[in-house]
Amino acid sequence: MTSSAQSPRAVIIGAGPTGLGAAHRLHEQGHEDFVVLEANDYVGGLATSFTDEAGFTYDIGGHVMFSHYEYYDDLVDKLMGGDYTELNREAWVWMENRFIPYPFQNNIKDLDPETVLECIMGLVRAQAAEAESPASFAEWMLQTFGEGITRHFMRPYNFKVWATPAELMGFQWIGERVSVVDIESVLRNVLFDTPAISWGPNNTFKYPLRGGTGTLYHEMARPLERFIHLEQKVESIDPVAKEVRTADGRVWPYDVLLNTMPLNVCVDKLTTVPEPVRAATKDLVWSGSHIVGVGIDRPAGTTKNWIYFPEPDVPFYRITYLSNYSPYMTAKPDQTLLLAEVSRSPHKPVDADTIVADVVEGFITTGLLQPEDRERIVTTWLCSPDMSYPVPSVNRDRALATIQPWLRSQSIWSRGRFGAWLYEIGNMDHSCMQGVEWANHVLDGEPEVTWIPRGEGTEGEGIR
Ligand SMILES: Cc1cc2nc3c(=O)[nH]c(=O)nc-3n(C[C@H](O)[C@H](O)[C@H](O)COP(=O)(O)OP(=O)(O)OC[C@H]3O[C@@H](n4cnc5c(N)ncnc54)[C@H](O)[C@@H]3O)c2cc1C
Repeated sequence: MTSSAQSPRAVIIGAGPTGLGAAHRLHEQGHEDFVVLEANDYVGGLATSFTDEAGFTYDIGGHVMFSHYEYYDDLVDKLMGGDYTELNREAWVWMENRFIPYPFQNNIKDLDPETVLECIMGLVRAQAAEAESPASFAEWMLQTFGEGITRHFMRPYNFKVWATPAELMGFQWIGERVSVVDIESVLRNVLFDTPAISWGPNNTFKYPLRGGTGTLYHEMARPLERFIHLEQKVESIDPVAKEVRTADGRVWPYDVLLNTMPLNVCVDKLTTVPEPVRAATKDLVWSGSHIVGVGIDRPAGTTKNWIYFPEPDVPFYRITYLSNYSPYMTAKPDQTLLLAEVSRSPHKPVDADTIVADVVEGFITTGLLQPEDRERIVTTWLCSPDMSYPVPSVNRDRALATIQPWLRSQSIWSRGRFGAWLYEIGNMDHSCMQGVEWANHVLDGEPEVTWIPRGEGTEGEGIR
């Protein structure tokens, strides 16, 4: 081992959940020779929160904790202390002018009888058909759910979320992300009128009492302050000299580099990169969003936490009653804070100038607000990340199999929601754990378990 290998200088690009998870773990393990370079003047990345002048607090889209990692859960518990709320995952779908409990496919009994029949017949036919290997998410939906469920929910809803046609998406990412269905539970729901709701005593999540989701990452960053350099936008990475250069001209040498900025951006910033690696980034597909918050001076009058909207005439695919998450999300008690998520892409352009008004109109047409509530709106908020969903496109894994092994051969690990570009491990818990596991890997050679290698990986030895 060289001396630098015994104490590797680590540069971490980005202070979102992945970068902070990595920094937290290095620090916890007593390693001090690292820096975190963050372009923004705040930490948390997409999992940050903002409080506006009116005193309302917003996340960048509803952030629910789904973690099954003991390490992450313990960390979050420590960061929140006793200051959290515990909520049911009370999720609904709005369609055909009514609310039905989520997941849609287990709760179709409340829909128009014609829709119910179409959904059941489609499911029966799909399950009776010969199973073929689907070529795309579009084919997977049809084979798994049949025509009715696909037409009424899966297809329109997924287009609204991904802003990408299902024909251009793969299906390998699905795993636990899409709830599949068996015909018996559908028939039970319809014939015996039993709601198959998905929330209950074992289906709860915690949320910070004050400051929104971003509080977690502010707290995580607090003991790491001396390692984190804000407003240090990375401009270039020289993989030969092993140096990162930031916008102010500073140079940051490294032995190991953890990148958490988007993978295509990372490749773009490399001073030397083989042509096939650069070309492979063209196969990475993403969507952006408009996140719209609306504060209203009246109580919510519901215990609903979030609602999905598959129908194309409503601009948002999901809304969250953020004011139900904690009483401190609004300026005063008995106010409501609604947060709407709208996706956008070249396949689904959205007018940024009218989106706030369009969302308010959508709240009224879906009955979330009454027309007279317009007078009670005390604040609105718009946040429009250009990159919010890494799309699992049909050629994604082929691209990753070209890009990631080469980066790894240069002592660069690219992890996190857009760093790894794997939506299926793109939540906060996955992202933070990718950072933690990276730290364990570079220090002690422990294999990463959350990040999934695509193609030939180069598992290195630990360097401590
Ligand atoms: C609409 C929406 C809803 C979501 N809902 C949930 C949910 O319900 N539950 C859940 O667990 N997760 C949810 N997520 C995902 C969650 O936000 C991510 O898991 C998490 O933020 C990913 O962390 P990250 O560190 O990998 O990336 P990011 O949060 O994107 O952080 C990357 C960081 O890198 C920095 N950076 C970029 N370029 C540079 C540069 N050139 N130089 C220096 N720094 C740079 C960025 O400023 C940023 O701070 C949601 C995300 C979105 C967009």
